[in-house]
Amino acid sequence: MASSNDNKSTEGGFQDGNSDPNDEETNELCPGFKDVDAFVKYGLGAVLSATKASAGLPQAGDDYDFYRSFPGFQEFCESQGDKLLHLMSQIMQHHGCRSHMRDRNKLTGLEERFDLVVDSNDTILERAGILLDEADGVNRSQQPVMPAGFQPPKIVVSSWNRKGSGSGSRPETFRLLHAKNVARPQLKFKEKVDNSNTPFIPKIFIKPNATKPLPSYFTNKQIRKERPEDLDVPAALADFIHQQRTQEHVEDMFAHPYQYELDHFTTPENLLSKPEVQMYKPMAETKCSFIDTLEDLVALNEKLCKLSEFAVDLEHHSYRSFLGLTCLMQISTREEDFIIDTLELRSEMYILNEAFTDPATVKVFHGADSDIEWLQKDFGLYVVNLFDTHQASRALNLARHSLDHLLKHFCNVDSDKRYQLADWRIRPLPDEMVQYARTDTHYLLYIYDSMRAQLLEFHHGQPGLLQSVWNKSKDISLKKYLKPIFTEESYLELQRKQKKSFNTQQLTAFRLLFAWRDKLARQEDESTGYVLPTHMMSKISEELPKEPQGIIACCNPVPPLVRQQVNELHLLVQQAREMPLLKVSKDGCQQWAYVLSVLFGPHDTSRISAAFLKELETKSDQTSLSVAHMKASRIIESFENPFRMYLPPSDVHINKNAKFDPSSKIFEVNKLHLLSYHMSNHMFDSLKGGGKKRERVASEVGESTPKPSKKLMKSADKPQKTEPPSQESFTPFDYSQSDLSVFAGTKSKSNTQFDPNRQAPDFKKKVFICSLISGNRSMSYMAGKSERGFRHNWPKR
Ligand code: AMP
Ligand code: MN
Ligand code: ZN
Repeated sequence: MASSNDNKSTEGGFQDGNSDPNDEETNELCPGFKDVDAFVKYGLGAVLSATKASAGLPQAGDDYDFYRSFPGFQEFCESQGDKLLHLMSQIMQHHGCRSHMRDRNKLTGLEERFDLVVDSNDTILERAGILLDEADGVNRSQQPVMPAGFQPPKIVVSSWNRKGSGSGSRPETFRLLHAKNVARPQLKFKEKVDNSNTPFIPKIFIKPNATKPLPSYFTNKQIRKERPEDLDVPAALADFIHQQRTQEHVEDMFAHPYQYELDHFTTPENLLSKPEVQMYKPMAETKCSFIDTLEDLVALNEKLCKLSEFAVDLEHHSYRSFLGLTCLMQISTREEDFIIDTLELRSEMYILNEAFTDPATVKVFHGADSDIEWLQKDFGLYVVNLFDTHQASRALNLARHSLDHLLKHFCNVDSDKRYQLADWRIRPLPDEMVQYARTDTHYLLYIYDSMRAQLLEFHHGQPGLLQSVWNKSKDISLKKYLKPIFTEESYLELQRKQKKSFNTQQLTAFRLLFAWRDKLARQEDESTGYVLPTHMMSKISEELPKEPQGIIACCNPVPPLVRQQVNELHLLVQQAREMPLLKVSKDGCQQWAYVLSVLFGPHDTSRISAAFLKELETKSDQTSLSVAHMKASRIIESFENPFRMYLPPSDVHINKNAKFDPSSKIFEVNKLHLLSYHMSNHMFDSLKGGGKKRERVASEVGESTPKPSKKLMKSADKPQKTEPPSQESFTPFDYSQSDLSVFAGTKSKSNTQFDPNRQAPDFKKKVFICSLISGNRSMSYMAGKSERGFRHNWPKR
């Protein structure tokens, strides 16, 4: 599969980017001008003298009126005026603007003409801006191969069946396949994608090159497979039990499987000394294999294991999938290129861990941050001994750090990044896309050599700078994939980015639409952007249309799922309109969000100012706030006992013996209550920064309460080897004032489903307790948030 259109620069022409082959072009830019500078200089001169002349004209008022009494002056003005209007009109027409400047007889009025000029100026300046950006490489007029939106398929012409047309013409014809025309690869996956709102657990089950064995959680299929749904108990309870069963594995489940190996990895000496820079083979002379069978993949793995380095890149698709799909893996050795169909081999890719985690083989990536996450997410692949050329580019302080730039700079290769956003799910893969994909890794080992040499030169042979690149690369390989987690606060983060201040109704709509979109996207395995793009969601929230048709009108084009569920959406908007309408001051948005959450659900109390709480308390006369006030008081009240929501109701009779019978569910639940209770207290303490509260609450339950399990308490209270609660030391909790309805399944309250994401803090990170009551739940969040949502370490259901 050799390339026919190999780059001209492959035979030795790999020097630094300053040798531009176009330099020699002596074609004049404009007739009569040597170069752009000459043209600009002349242009500026002309503009300057015109401005001077116009300033020298007789001023309106006395002078002008006096001169105008001479017919010669009048005629001259008119003819010059006509000439000017004609020129302006020509310019405007040239730029495709409206123009009827010339027709002086038409009584369009000075104001309207003035508007015309202003409009045209805007259009022309905008165009100039775009062209300048383009020339600067910021913005390319070429469109991505796949449209980013979901416009109805207009032209279904693909670049590869457009053979023969030169490289000159382009844009529209690159809108090749509409996403609809591509079969959903997910349908063929052996293992279904897990879009549940639960944290990601590594997919690994075999660990090659291990110095520390893989924890039993990953090797024991039994534990992995048993899910709460399998338990014949109400959902909330099942979750709780499952969580408890996997408790002892929690730490393993969310650790980086190769953390130990990476922590103990040191870059071999030979990689810190002057490298021999090995030239790449011309692409036309390089064998390229397409790998889509297990046999070929196994053979490739064996080949890779024998090498001291190879280059890797991935192509990913994220529009028609909730978590995204890695569609292609490119690998280049010094001798060969490989393109792996990772949609086809998705379940088998893990075998490459043998080569990927082999510390004796360097894996060269460019900008590996995403790749490292995608490898984990889709294949359970990890990288030990990574070199990231993007990090090297930073260390070398190059002008730009993109791969295009490195290709140009080191290899004088022009790459066509138009394909970067192509729909990589397309099969069979068009040759152009294969060529593009190859280019991403083909030259990378040579760039790796060159950069190492330069990094050493930069520091006069000292390995410091080079070592820092190895270290940064290692940090990247230690990254863990985090699944996007929906919380009741996620919408606020996004809303804040909209730069619009919303009133209570608008904010409510935004919150409801956000939840609807997230749920549907997970369910349908589509991106949230496909379900309902954020700007449309924002517009619907802003306008709060009274009719379903109004919702449709906010969307152009209308996303298929919006059209399908417009009535549902209409109900959500109606619900939002029923909110008391309160204006939101510039800085008040969070506080209103708080009021909303008091009305509808829990909220992070850490964001509420004390002054605002006080305000709530004193403003009870205001009817619009009275509900909020009540609930706010309940929240404040709930600080007294953050564990309250776990307590069973007073009217439920529980067999006392059952509480002590380890085989009974009640025993298990009871134990869990106590654990959670301690956790809550601990978190509360850390929030309050003292232990007083804890002592006080603890004393309410008695002194002999069992200690929380060691895993849970680890690093909260320094790890202590505590015994699991024994029957003797176990004091049953007083159920008499409790509400058991929380375990009654999901029907009674709007949302009593246990959410593991709310339950289990990662004690390694700073934890703060957030809102408490609304239904009867407590929640805790991690302090740090990522773009993807909260980072939680909780078991998957
Ligand atoms: P690359 O490493 O440049 O080949 O990019 C790998 C993948 O990242 C592509 O297949 C895209 O899915 C994604 N990607 C790269 N650049 C962009 C971009 N500018 N915007 C969105 N996605 C991108
Ligand atoms: Mn890449
Ligand atoms: Zn790529």
